[in-house]
Amino acid sequence: MGESNLTERPIKAFPGIGEKRAAAFYKLGVKTGGDLLRHFPRAYQNRGAVKKLNEVRDGEICSVIASVGTVPKTVMLRSHKSFSKFVIFDETGKATVTFFNQNYLRDVFHVGEEFRFFTKIRINGTKVEMTSPQFEPVRMGHPLPDYVPIYGLASGLTQKMVSYTVGLALNELDEAPIPELLPEAFRQEKGLPTVRDAYRMIHRPDTAEDADTGKRYFMTEALYLFSLGIAMTRETRRRKTGIVMKPFPLTDFTRALPFALTEAQERCVREIFADLTGGSGLLMSRMVSGDVGSGKTAVAAAAIWLTVKNGYQAELMVPTGILASQHYEDLEPLFASFGIRTALLTGATTAGEKRKIKAGFLSGEIDVLIGTHALLTEDVIPKRLGLAVTDEQHRFGVAQRASLAERAGEPPHLLVMSATPIPRTLALTLYGDLDVSLLDSMPPGRQKVDTFVVDESYRERLNAFIRKNVNAGGQVYIVCPAVEETEEDPDELWQGGEIVDFFTFADMTEKKKKKKSAVRFAEEMSAAFPEFRVAYLHGKMKQSEKDDIMRRFADGEIQILVSTTVIEVGVNVPNACLMIVENAESFGLSQLHQLRGRVGRGTRKSYCVLVSDAETESAKKRLDVMRSSNSGFVIAEEDLKLRGPGDFFPVGDGSARQSGEFRMGLTSLCDDMDLLREAAAAAGETVAADPDLSSPENRFRAEAVRALFTLNAEAMN
Ligand code: ADP
Ligand code: MG
Repeated sequence: MGESNLTERPIKAFPGIGEKRAAAFYKLGVKTGGDLLRHFPRAYQNRGAVKKLNEVRDGEICSVIASVGTVPKTVMLRSHKSFSKFVIFDETGKATVTFFNQNYLRDVFHVGEEFRFFTKIRINGTKVEMTSPQFEPVRMGHPLPDYVPIYGLASGLTQKMVSYTVGLALNELDEAPIPELLPEAFRQEKGLPTVRDAYRMIHRPDTAEDADTGKRYFMTEALYLFSLGIAMTRETRRRKTGIVMKPFPLTDFTRALPFALTEAQERCVREIFADLTGGSGLLMSRMVSGDVGSGKTAVAAAAIWLTVKNGYQAELMVPTGILASQHYEDLEPLFASFGIRTALLTGATTAGEKRKIKAGFLSGEIDVLIGTHALLTEDVIPKRLGLAVTDEQHRFGVAQRASLAERAGEPPHLLVMSATPIPRTLALTLYGDLDVSLLDSMPPGRQKVDTFVVDESYRERLNAFIRKNVNAGGQVYIVCPAVEETEEDPDELWQGGEIVDFFTFADMTEKKKKKKSAVRFAEEMSAAFPEFRVAYLHGKMKQSEKDDIMRRFADGEIQILVSTTVIEVGVNVPNACLMIVENAESFGLSQLHQLRGRVGRGTRKSYCVLVSDAETESAKKRLDVMRSSNSGFVIAEEDLKLRGPGDFFPVGDGSARQSGEFRMGLTSLCDDMDLLREAAAAAGETVAADPDLSSPENRFRAEAVRALFTLNAEAMN
């Protein structure tokens, strides 16, 4: 070891890592030493609070420094199970330590040797007992750290293994060439450590402040890199020219609509038309940001109409097959009334039909193609594409937008429809590569969804309410924060002691509570409602399975759908009238608002019930915002105030975030608006001086930006 560059060295080249462990590390996204250094702890255990054996209390979680008093005795039980026991002591008292199924203990615990044990204390009569404690040998000259990192694991790995391997990488830090990505002046201005120190602080903090400083360093770096990516895309766009279209009167289009456009819709359409017919001749990259139900489809349809009127083709890309079908059903007849030929391409399209559609798009016989993003970017070649529209844009990262623009010979104008209302103060920083049109009012006559916040004590009443709604012919969504019951190593899940949570130092107590999982909760609901059809849906299912379940729900065949936030994306099931969100405190407000937008889409009186046992003031306050407001923009501003900008980052999706991965490069953790603004300003300076980051000093920055943005593209799926 030591010969190859630490950051590029394959994980397999680290001591103790064979094929199997390497495969487990891959699952964590760790392929190289560099990835290993970036596999940040998800929490820290505070083992620094050491108690004497005569001070410990029943149920207390703490450390004890004690010597081994007896040789471990192992008792074999039936079916290859066993337990081992031995006595430990300090100068104040004794305790019994028990381990299960660990037959090697005699080799570890020698009489007279001292260890630090950490676990929940049980007091049985007068006897102190410790079961399966974490333990570390106490050695002269090797002080034990107070804070022990807890890493995300995959099966086949233990905390000790991961921590040990990270330690190996840390030992090499000083010799390894590790570039500082933050501009030096900015780093110093923010009082941040060097990148090497930041690595040491985040993995091996001496204090809670160290951990926080390390986290802050990498968060700042992520914000800076993200902003660099945005600034670069903006720069590139400034230099791109686009098709200039002829104007047509908007009324020619609106005449075919069953309703009059709202003022906001009309303003958005005019902004888009100005871009498309613009004298500037620049390529359009515009986002329409509008609340759920604000009528984005009609705005997109107008843009498509103008494009086809000009003799160009248009694409409408959406994240799921079911959404594609819904758009097709809505838009095909409208377009047909103008003689516009529309086709639909999804995973369900047969191979033969696919071939025909592709041929039609290539020959220009098809004017408008609606489909999923993956399908449309694959090998579908247009004759003369004038406009690419992506709907529910928050599912697509910046990288997708870039790849889109690259695809065709003559680049199409780009229109993205975002269902997440974005606070004005944020729009420019997060979507600086796009112009933004705000669709900030709703079509008339939209019904208000009544929102309630309840706790577990309402469960029975809630179930009665579900029954009442389904018996009346309605349908119910239930959203859970997790996919499956976690099957992680108990060591990892072990909720002992004062865990300093890496993610949210403030909301720790809420985090520690167990989150409901869609799969498990669907079982519970099936049992509670044997008379109804219950199904579950989550992001880890195959696309075809997901589409199938969604279709059956849309058809009314399934009455109760238990899901993760995958249903957040704008599927329209007008018959659904009750949205229940479990562990509501674990969602961002904008996400809750999005979820609430899934009901109240038909004529049925609709309700949203947020179930939460959260006790912190901040959690209660946030849920109260939901009860009192129905405007996505108001809620987004509140969300920004209460949680910071992290939830608004246009990268990845909810399911990536909910599994607690670090894929997002920490941007999703940002709770500090000023920091984001400053990082964006620093990125702006870097790009102003070197627009495509081609100078040698920016080489590593350019690489990191590319890596960040491709990673996010992967995380999307
Ligand atoms: P979203 O912005 O969530 O995509 P949609 O485009 O799906 O919203 O529109 C939601 C509903 O509102 C649709 O049924 C649509 O027909 C209707 N709608 C859109 N614009 C108007 C309008 N100006 N007046 C009345 N209804 C409208
Ligand atoms: Mg929509």
